[in-house]
Amino acid sequence: MAFMVITIDGPAGAGKGTLASRLAQIYHLKYLDTGLLYRAVAFKVSQLRKPFKKQDVVSAASSLTLKDLKNPSLREEQIGNLASEVSIYPEVRRCLLDFQRNFVQKDLSKSQGAVLDGRDIGLIVLPEAPCKIFVTASPEVRAERRLKQLHQKGIDCIYEVILEDIKLRDARDRNREISPLRPADDAFILDTSELGIEEVIEKACFFVDSKYPQAKKKAE
Ligand code: C5P
Repeated sequence: MAFMVITIDGPAGAGKGTLASRLAQIYHLKYLDTGLLYRAVAFKVSQLRKPFKKQDVVSAASSLTLKDLKNPSLREEQIGNLASEVSIYPEVRRCLLDFQRNFVQKDLSKSQGAVLDGRDIGLIVLPEAPCKIFVTASPEVRAERRLKQLHQKGIDCIYEVILEDIKLRDARDRNREISPLRPADDAFILDTSELGIEEVIEKACFFVDSKYPQAKKKAE
């Protein structure tokens, strides 16, 4: 059985993380949320005195370790927005490209494969991966999901503000010169706007099974 590699890309709030962690459990895969890498760089930069320079961002990216990804502050809204700003530097993307590829190559015998989620995994980071999924949903649906998550955490937020943030981040991620958010030609497009999580998992598993018919699966 070949080492499985699954890439999951898509805009913020489309449900990539939930899908990736469920696939990791079902197929016994190691999982890397690559958004956390950009968030960790953003966090390091946010601790510096403003205005920060490009060199500060590059040195934050080149000194990144897996331990940096455990910081709970990385999930904060403003760190997500700053992550999308620091992610436009080609030098930063190059450092993180090596980090992501090394993650896949490490400890091959400890799992059945790897799943990585982000924006450019199928197109740039792991273009040879046989199994690529592009998860998407309308900005309105994504804003509603985000609002619900924030309310559950006791954080008060306004729907219109979240929707604007999502649209701004989408535009920045889609229109940047290097590694813009775009599905690979051979990606399975999974629009989750009208689907519940279990339906999303079912459709994704169907696609994964078609690519890796020999894969061992945990009983669901
Ligand atoms: O997915 P998440 O919202 O955590 O990502 C934060 C930001 O990091 C994104 O808006 C995007 O600009 C950047 N990112 C990226 N490439 C990835 C993952 C995230 O540019 N593979």
